[in-house]
Amino acid sequence: MRWTKAKLRDLQDRLGKAYPDAKCALDHGDPFELVVATILSAQCTDARVNLTTPALFAKYPDAAALASAKLPELEALIHSTGFYHNKARNLIGLGQALLAKHGGKVPSDPAELEALPGVGQKTANVVLANAFGVPALAVDTHIFRVARRLGLSDAKTPEKVEADLCRRFPESAWIELHHQLIFHGRRRCDARKPDCAGCPVLGLCDVGRGKAADPHSGLTLTSRSAPATPPPGPRAEEKLPARRKAPQAEPATPPPLRIISLVPSVTELLAQWNLAARLVGRTRYCIAPKWIRATVPEVGGTKDPNLARIKDLKPDLVILERDENKKTTADALTKLGIPWLALEVRSLEGCAAAWEELGGRLGVGPVAKARAAALRAQLKKKQKQGPRTLTLIWQRPWMSAGPDTYLGDLVRQAGFSPIGPPRWTELSEAALKALAPEVILLPTEPFRFTKRHVNELQKRFPEAAIHLLDGQAMTWYLSRTEEGLALLRGLPKT
Ligand code: SF4
Repeated sequence: MRWTKAKLRDLQDRLGKAYPDAKCALDHGDPFELVVATILSAQCTDARVNLTTPALFAKYPDAAALASAKLPELEALIHSTGFYHNKARNLIGLGQALLAKHGGKVPSDPAELEALPGVGQKTANVVLANAFGVPALAVDTHIFRVARRLGLSDAKTPEKVEADLCRRFPESAWIELHHQLIFHGRRRCDARKPDCAGCPVLGLCDVGRGKAADPHSGLTLTSRSAPATPPPGPRAEEKLPARRKAPQAEPATPPPLRIISLVPSVTELLAQWNLAARLVGRTRYCIAPKWIRATVPEVGGTKDPNLARIKDLKPDLVILERDENKKTTADALTKLGIPWLALEVRSLEGCAAAWEELGGRLGVGPVAKARAAALRAQLKKKQKQGPRTLTLIWQRPWMSAGPDTYLGDLVRQAGFSPIGPPRWTELSEAALKALAPEVILLPTEPFRFTKRHVNELQKRFPEAAIHLLDGQAMTWYLSRTEEGLALLRGLPKT
C-alpha cells in the first residue's frame, strides 16, 4: 500500500467512525494517578490495572504518600499487575523524585518526565498526551502490530514506528489516533486472529486482503482466516462435566472464534485476555468492561438465557459455570448441537485450574498458566485459625456463603476462619444468632448491603467486626480473584 495523503485521511475517517469512544483506558483523575497507572500497565492489561488502582490510590493518594510507602505493603497491593518487585521499587522512587525535584507534581516537560524512575518514552508520551494534552503518539504493542500490518511502518522498534507515524500524520491527530489504533488492535486486529472480514479498514490493508505477508507472524492472513463454519467442538455431554484435575493441553483444533459467555466474570476475564473480539454474545449481567455493553449483543440472563438468540448467533463455544448457570441450559445447548464448556470455581485453587482449562481451550494457555502460577504462589496450604467469620450474601431471608464455596475459600486464604452451613444456605434468626461470628462480611453483591445493614447487625453482634465490602471484588471469581484476596487480606484480624 502506497500511503497517499488522501488514503491517510480515509484511514483516519474510518477509524474515527469505527471507534468514536476511543480514549485512554486507564482510569485516572490527575497526572499523578495517570503516571502511576501507566507504570503499572507494563506487561499488564489496562483492565487489571483499573482493578488495582482504586485501593492503591486510596492508600497512596499523592507523591508524598508513595515516597514513604513500605515496599512489602506496596507490592501486595500491585501484585496482580505482574513484575511487582520492580514496579513497586519504581513507584517509591517516582514518589521520592517527584517530591525532591518537582514539589510533588508531575512535570509536563518530556525530558523531565523521562528522567523519572519507571518512566520511559512510551509512558512519558501517554502522560503528556492524556494528562497535559501535549501531542504525542506512544506506540504500545497494539499500535506496533497494527501500524506494521497496515504498512504505515516497517520499522522493527516501537520508537522507530512512532517516528514513522508522527511523520505521516498531522500533529493535531496524534492523540486521537493513538487511542483509535489501540482500540482497533484490541477489538479487531488481534495478534493471533485478526478479524479481517469485519475490519473497517480492510480496503486499505494489503495484509488483510492477502496481498502481503503479515509482518507480525510472517504468514499470509488468508491462510489463517476464520473458517466459514465453526470448528468442531468437543461432543457436548449429557451432564455438566466435573472439573478436570490436570490442566488441559493446548487444543489441536483451532480455538473458538464465536464465543458466548453466560458468566459475567468470565466475560470480563476474556476482555482482560484481549479476547473480547471473539465474544458474540453475553448475558445482561455481563456489564464489565463497560464498553462491552455497546459492542456485544445480549442473550438474556444467567439463569434464563434466550436460547433462540444464542442459536442465531452461531457460537462455536458457550461458556457456563456450574453454580452460576443451570443444568437445563447445558442440556438445551446439547440438544441444539452447540458446544459448551462448564467451569467449576469453588475455591482459589479451582480458580487457577479454571484459568488453565479455559486458557488452553481458547489458545491463550501461557497467559492463563502464568496467572494461575502467580495466584498459587499466594495460596497458603496450612491456615492458622483466624477469627470466626460469617459471609452474608442476602437478607430476608439471611443467607450465608459456606466454607465450601469460593467465598469461603477466599475468606480462609485471607487468614479468617469461615463459618456457617455448607454452600449458600438460608439462616433463620435463631441460626444466625447461634453462629456467634467474630467477623461479619457484607459484600455489596449479590445483595446490595449498605451501612444500614452494618448498623442493624452491629446491634445484634456488638462484639463483632462488621465490614461492608466491594461485592464485585469479592464475588467476581476469575476476573477479580486477586483483587478480592488483596481486599480481604487488608482487613484487620482482630
Ligand atoms: S484488515 Fe486485518 S490485518 Fe488489516 S488492519 Fe484490519 S484486522 Fe488488521
